[in-house]
Amino acid sequence: MNALRTVSRAAMALYISSAAIACGGSNSTSATAAPEMVKKVDTEAATKNAAKPASVVFGEECREGLHAAQKQLPLILAVSGARSEENLLVPYNMMLTHIEHSMALASLMSAVHPDKEIREAAKACEQETSAFVTELSLNPELYAAFTAIETKSLDANTQRLVSDTLQDYRRAGVDKDKATRDRLKAIDEEMVKLGQVFGKNIVDDVKHIEVASVDGLKGLPADYIASHAPNKEGKIIITTNYPDMIPFMQYAESDDLRKKLYIAGKSRAGATNEDTLAAILKLRGEKATILGYANWADYVTEDKMMKSGKKADAFIARVVKTAKKRATRDYNELLSWKRKNLNKKAKSVGDWEKGYIENKVKAANYSFDPQEVRPYFPYAQVQAGLLDITSKIYGIEYKSVSDAKLWHQDVSAYDVMRDGSKIGRIYLDMHPRDGKYGHAAQFTLRSGVQGVQVPEGVLVCNFPNPRTSEGPALMEHGDVTTMFHEFGHLMHHVLGGQQKWIEQSGVATEWDFVEAPSQMFEEWAWNYDTLKTFAKHHETGAVLPKETVERMRKADKFGLGIATVQQMFYAAISLKFHQVDPGSLKMLDTVKALQSKYTPFAYVEGTNFHTNFGHLNGYSAIYYTYMWSLVIAKDMLTPFQKHGLMNTDWTYKYRDIILASGGTKDAADLVAEFLGRPFNFKAFEKFLRN
Ligand SMILES: [Zn+2]
Repeated sequence: MNALRTVSRAAMALYISSAAIACGGSNSTSATAAPEMVKKVDTEAATKNAAKPASVVFGEECREGLHAAQKQLPLILAVSGARSEENLLVPYNMMLTHIEHSMALASLMSAVHPDKEIREAAKACEQETSAFVTELSLNPELYAAFTAIETKSLDANTQRLVSDTLQDYRRAGVDKDKATRDRLKAIDEEMVKLGQVFGKNIVDDVKHIEVASVDGLKGLPADYIASHAPNKEGKIIITTNYPDMIPFMQYAESDDLRKKLYIAGKSRAGATNEDTLAAILKLRGEKATILGYANWADYVTEDKMMKSGKKADAFIARVVKTAKKRATRDYNELLSWKRKNLNKKAKSVGDWEKGYIENKVKAANYSFDPQEVRPYFPYAQVQAGLLDITSKIYGIEYKSVSDAKLWHQDVSAYDVMRDGSKIGRIYLDMHPRDGKYGHAAQFTLRSGVQGVQVPEGVLVCNFPNPRTSEGPALMEHGDVTTMFHEFGHLMHHVLGGQQKWIEQSGVATEWDFVEAPSQMFEEWAWNYDTLKTFAKHHETGAVLPKETVERMRKADKFGLGIATVQQMFYAAISLKFHQVDPGSLKMLDTVKALQSKYTPFAYVEGTNFHTNFGHLNGYSAIYYTYMWSLVIAKDMLTPFQKHGLMNTDWTYKYRDIILASGGTKDAADLVAEFLGRPFNFKAFEKFLRN
């Protein structure tokens, strides 16, 4: 999702904590660390404030934007006479821009700064800035100023800004009486706290199984076995942490041990989060009721493309209907492998067997080994290929910036140039290190505002590092896809970052549209015509063979049916938990019912998925968004499939309509303008069928 709607769009509550667009079945926001600010922190300030610890200096720098905004607020409110663009919208826009400087810098640095004390200082800065944003969202004087503005003479984007802002204020509850506003504020604060507790309970509850001897590790790679030596008692401990659990669920031959580990993983936080989640759902329900909605699902979908909980229901049902056939086919393939290889009389496949058997089927029926393509993807070559492709399809150039002060030696910066002018700056922080954010996300450092600042965005990823690798830092193809995906967000942020109003800049579009451009751009990492430009063997220089690409695609699609209905099962939990009266919701019963309704896998006794489904906090009712974006992404891809991925008639059209518009129009309207018709399900259905 977006960074800046962070600031005022109802965003207030939703986007605030995340200035980053975090992906992978999920979402992200963006955070920008202004290079100037970083420079000051690292050098000038360090010498000038030699007596102060670096974290204190950083904290002061980080709050500069916040303090500027706090100074500006009374000046905006003090205006007498008629409200206008000049005396309200322009200074308000500047106030939000100041806030973003603090928010984005804090959010980015808390995720990437090598110094732990600075990361902590950044978190404190972020919390303080968030608190100010919450106050703004409930400020009746600001709301009154917006209601007083005469909009007839304003341009279309500005009219939209005013109506969106008014909607956000109403959705925050600013028009309620003082006591109600106080209650809403208390609810928001309590929800933030409980949300953190919910997440922490999951992280803290690391469970494990004991494996009696090394025989139990049969099937796992040698390096995994080597790093899991028996303890003093001769037992091997396998925890529910991902690096332990994921390979075990995929490769361990022992069905019994896999099942035990599965139950351990899916029962995490059972003792602690049942009540925490109930309390969160109750608060969300209360807030929705106060604001006049039937339930939280209706509230949270209202300003998305989806518009209502009922439509989200229908969407989930439709996707499941579309995917059912393929899911059944996938399931039968798993079952027949099981009958042939494990148990002739097997009647079903358990959820804990899925990953293991899927791998076996892929190897047996699709003869594709991911290791086979790694030599074609040395990191440096992939990055160069990606920059080359995007410069061609979007008519831009990247100019390496040599004087940017960066937070780590592995970070690089480029100015994005178009027709000789600088239109933005990107930072690539692509390799892992201690204490750094562990996933892949696009952070906003600055949202572009015409005449004020160009957009700056940061990719934060964890790919192999050529500087520290012995060899050429070969990437998995999955990593290559992730890199293209995140770059899709970055291009949206930069090319859409030429707006008058910060709240319409870049990725400030509806939350359930944000993933569509990046999901679509993944295709550029899968198509032979684009791959052949950079996927060359690091030793021989040979281009990745077309036949291999086809095999890779086929193998990748095995399991798509099952994965799709599984996602919809999660989406249904997320939605249903927020539609039912929190007082009468039976959480585990609901999970069981939805699992048997949507997936071919039976509920496994002893598990309670809802207490460790972390996205129930960040996404609340709208876990459907990723699939919704995918439906649109597949439709937006159709002209490229016909005309070619490098066809600039279409890539420029896409750039100018979808990306460049940022949040100035409804996403559905932009897509209709681009395709020449409203988007539909046909391309997605075809993708699921073939
Ligand atoms: Zn994404």
